[in-house]
This record gives sequence, C-alpha cells and structure tokens, in this order.
Amino acid sequence: MELSFKVIIVGPGAVGKTSLLNRFVHNEFNLKYKLTIGVDFLTKNLEYKPSKFAKLQIWDIGGQERFKFLHRSFYDGAFGALLVFDLSRQHTFSRMKIWLSEMRSIVLNDIPKVIIGNKSDLIPEIGQIIDRNEVEKYAKNEGCLYIETSAKTGDNVEKAFLELTNHIVKKEEKK
Ligand code: GDP
Ligand code: MG
Repeated sequence: MELSFKVIIVGPGAVGKTSLLNRFVHNEFNLKYKLTIGVDFLTKNLEYKPSKFAKLQIWDIGGQERFKFLHRSFYDGAFGALLVFDLSRQHTFSRMKIWLSEMRSIVLNDIPKVIIGNKSDLIPEIGQIIDRNEVEKYAKNEGCLYIETSAKTGDNVEKAFLELTNHIVKKEEKK
C-alpha cells in the first residue's frame, strides 16, 4: 500500500513558505522574492522511516487576503499542516495565530500541525526578536510542535516535514 497525504503550508506573506518548499523538494534557495499567486503544489516522496515512504502533496497558498475565497478547497482533505511565521518580523507571529484559528474554524477534525519559526539564520545578526518561551507555550497549548528552520541554510527543514509526516502516519495507523 502506498501512503499518500495532502499537506498544507500556511502563514502570512513573505515568511518563507515557498522557500521552505523549494528547499525541501528541490534543495534550492532563492533570495529574490516571487509572490505566490493563488495556490501551487509540489509533491515529494519522503522516506519517513528506513525504507518506508510517503508521498506528500504539499499545497502552498498566496498569503493575500484576496485569495480568501480559495481557503475552503485549499484546506479540504488535508492530513496535516505547517504554520509558518518569520523570526525576524514580530507581527508575523500574531498573524500566524489568526491563520491557525481560521484553520480550526474550517478544518473541524484535529489534523497534526507543526508551527515553524523560519529565517533562524537571521537571529545571529538581528538578535532574538520573538520570545521563544512564548512561542513554545503557545504551540504546546495548541497541541502543535514548534520547530525553528532556515530555508536559506536548510537547517531543520527536512526535520519539520519528517515530524509532521510521522505524526500523520501514527495517527492513520491508529484508525
Ligand atoms: P512566502 O510568501 O511565505 O512564500 O515567502 P517566500 O518563500 O517567497 O520568501 C519571502 C522572502 O524571504 C524571499 O526573499 C526569501 O528569499 C526570503 N527567505 C525565505 N526563507 C528565508 C530564510 O530562511 N532565511 C532568510 N534569510 N531569508 C528567507
Ligand atoms: Mg509563497
């Protein structure tokens, strides 16, 4: 039996959603900002355990308000979600929380979720802008895992997808 899951990646604009996908799927990174229009998706066969594979179909959404009408079909059938904010911009954390509550109002079953603080490569330069304890407390409260990544260096990117996939697989095996 081949495992195949739809996974969604959400969060405010310019936090690095598309970059995380490009790093994970193509092992590439581009500093030029290219707006994601509407919805885009990529697939990757992930070895989540030695010789165990799951096909991930990862849906990436443009953060713009005007695509709100797409949200319902975007969330439909998702097995898991990555919620991304930008460690270098404080307001993206509160914006990400709004995405999570919107998701909860649309996706009524409790799907596995990982919260991602992206652009960790910038912290040595700009310092710790967002209180890590606060994020961890919030994530725990929401029943989510919290991982800090850098799409630029690749740090923890595969780990975030692995954690999410393992969580999904465990949940499916229980059914
Ligand atoms: P999206 O709107 O959430 O899809 O964000 P993008 O993936 O398009 O990235 C927005 C901008 O942030 C681009 O200029 C990226 O090059 C940059 N970016 C994304 N991830 C990182 C990262 O981990 N570190 C740094 N320094 N820049 C990043
Ligand atoms: Mg994008």
